[in-house]
Amino acid sequence: MSIIKGAQVAEAVSAETKKRAEKLKAEGTEPCLAIIRVGEDGSEIAYERGAMKRMDKCGIKCMSIVLDENIGQTEFEKKFSEVNDDKNVHGILLLQPLPKQLDIEPIKELINPIKDVDALSAVNLYKVFVGDKTGYAPCTAEAVMETLDYMGTDYTGKKCVVIGRSLVVGKPLGMLLLGRNATVTYCHSRTKQLAEEAKQADILVAAVGVPKMVKADFVKEGITVIDVGINVDENGNMCGDVDFENVEPIVENITPVPGGVGAVTTSVLAKHVVMAAEMLK
Ligand code: NAP
Repeated sequence: MSIIKGAQVAEAVSAETKKRAEKLKAEGTEPCLAIIRVGEDGSEIAYERGAMKRMDKCGIKCMSIVLDENIGQTEFEKKFSEVNDDKNVHGILLLQPLPKQLDIEPIKELINPIKDVDALSAVNLYKVFVGDKTGYAPCTAEAVMETLDYMGTDYTGKKCVVIGRSLVVGKPLGMLLLGRNATVTYCHSRTKQLAEEAKQADILVAAVGVPKMVKADFVKEGITVIDVGINVDENGNMCGDVDFENVEPIVENITPVPGGVGAVTTSVLAKHVVMAAEMLK
């Protein structure tokens, strides 16, 4: 049984990214990520800090653009377009959720798909769907794949059950797994007999947002469990979607929360910024 630490995966992904960033700089292009945040949400600020730290480690420049939380749609789109058109910016991360008065849909069409390093646009989701490697998958979905790759996973013919079907995690992740010849089952809030479905898995991924909902009766011995959830438990501590304490003794491999997939996400983001800079140089 092993607990897969995200930090190790993140270091492995970042080592390669750093080399590519250095090569770009030697050729006269400094890869640059712009992070756009609207307002002062604490968890967005925490994610931004983590992303900035990771960019720094990888030798990527990072700009933080903070907009007023009461900004209107027209002004927001204008500011976004300025960043989108800035030749020195290669990747854009728009932190979410946005305040209620703002609509993200126009941004999904506005963003240059090459700068769309967290796969907001239809172009990048389409590329995930068809397996076109010139696009980006949403960073968290790809972070799950990086974690499984790090473990030396052979996907072919494996039963992968993904709980969650959001556009940012579950759905694209299923497509990535399918692209590696896994047999994929999606589960969601309307799935009947969820525990029985989950129990078929060789690889079980929970991307739900319900604290500790994956219990011991969801898993069989010898499988791999990847916990994407970021929740707060009844004592105010961060926890995942998996009841770690009771699941961990049964399974072969498991990622913890905190310290699991979340730690890998920003290293995937850095990789995407370097890819963008290579395409735009
Ligand atoms: P989301 O958009 O709320 O989607 C949640 C998914 O879980 C939906 O497909 C929903 O089903 C399903 N679901 C909800 N309750 C369920 C239940 N009781 N049984 C079965 N399925 C259920 O959330 P998300 O953005 O995908 O995020 C999922 C989790 O990952 C959250 O905890 C989030 O904080 C975390 N997250 C982590 C990272 C990271 O870097 N590690 C990044 C993003 C998100 P329906 O479709 O039927 O509603």
